[in-house]
Amino acid sequence: MADKQRIETLLVHGVGAEGKSYGATVAPIYHTSTFDQESATSYGRFNYSRSANPTRDALERTLAALDGATRALAYPSGVAALDALSLLLAPGDEVVCSRDVYGGTYRLFAQSWRARGIVVHFVDATDDAAVENACSLRTRLIHAEALGNPLLSVCDVRALAQVAKRRGSLLSIDNTSLTPLNLKPLDLGADIVIHSATKYLSGHSDLTAGTLAVRDAALGERLAFHHNSMGSVLSPGDCALLSRSLATLAVRLERQQRNAEEFASRLHARWGSDTRADASRTSRVLHPSLSSHPGREVHLRQSSGHGAVVSWCTGDSERSARIAQGLKLFAVRVSFGSVSSSVSMPCFMSHLSVPQELSDFMPPRDLLRFSIGLEDVDDLWADLCQAIKSVDTGGAS
Ligand SMILES: *Cc1c(COP(=O)(O)O)cnc(C)c1O
Repeated sequence: MADKQRIETLLVHGVGAEGKSYGATVAPIYHTSTFDQESATSYGRFNYSRSANPTRDALERTLAALDGATRALAYPSGVAALDALSLLLAPGDEVVCSRDVYGGTYRLFAQSWRARGIVVHFVDATDDAAVENACSLRTRLIHAEALGNPLLSVCDVRALAQVAKRRGSLLSIDNTSLTPLNLKPLDLGADIVIHSATKYLSGHSDLTAGTLAVRDAALGERLAFHHNSMGSVLSPGDCALLSRSLATLAVRLERQQRNAEEFASRLHARWGSDTRADASRTSRVLHPSLSSHPGREVHLRQSSGHGAVVSWCTGDSERSARIAQGLKLFAVRVSFGSVSSSVSMPCFMSHLSVPQELSDFMPPRDLLRFSIGLEDVDDLWADLCQAIKSVDTGGAS
């Protein structure tokens, strides 16, 4: 049975790809809006692609199996999947959200959701007592990233699930940075797991997509109702592209993580505690593979891998910017999880959307976020070394 297979096998074979003709190895993409009905008074399994489409159905069934869910839904972006959670809330309801989250999550919760009367509190979710203290009788949703972005802070999913249960709230975990290969939030008691499939799940910088998965059948029904009702569905072509990318997720992630661990370890050894006189603050390297990483104990208990994002606070934001600009193999761009490596300064890029009144929650200005790809790690390291050398000898400007 499909749900008994190991995750690597599931990723390659998927579940639910039906309708192949002529012995085709790959299922056709059902690029159709409508399905002709056998009679005027009864529907077949598919009738209109917003409601359901065989290509999306195959993807959603595979996604559900990967997360150990009963139901998964595919949206056109990660934030569209996040926004679908608001359909479970009413004006006056409260949300407690981790403060180490994607910049667009801040914008969505603190601006779009607040405009609809939802009250959002941002707290340090690595401290489950702080999460519990922020809960009130109206708290309906607790939201966190198990491995935060870009500070790579770790929250204890099992402890948060217990808080949510005591408070009669749902717990949603954004698992974008770990993927189902490293962490299964539903197994630890979360109610909803979210992925921006734009990142590792697709992995080739050619798609935006988001997913939600749940175990509770009634919750799945509610979300599926709104999925069709609101119409925020992933197109058949993009579903096929994402299904294809999933087939290589396990090998991509394994190699990217191995590269990231090596990169983080060299960076930490060489620059982990740089105390040169011109560094206004000390340099810090952040990756859960490092023994110095805060929250590592909880991370190792709940996750089987570390992701391929490595953050480095150089101690000086000007120096960080010049290093980023001096890199040749690493492209300067937002996002992460792609086969090709990139670097960003979240404070000036992905987290620019954090609203002004929450500016205390911005990532440090000197933080460089590396997304490590599939290149040879020696080449990546050589690229960083040449960029640092060039900055330190006054070459790059
Ligand atoms: C990118 C990202 C999102 C948003 O996803 P999009 O596909 O860009 O809409 C949400 N959560 C996390 C953790 C992300 O990294």
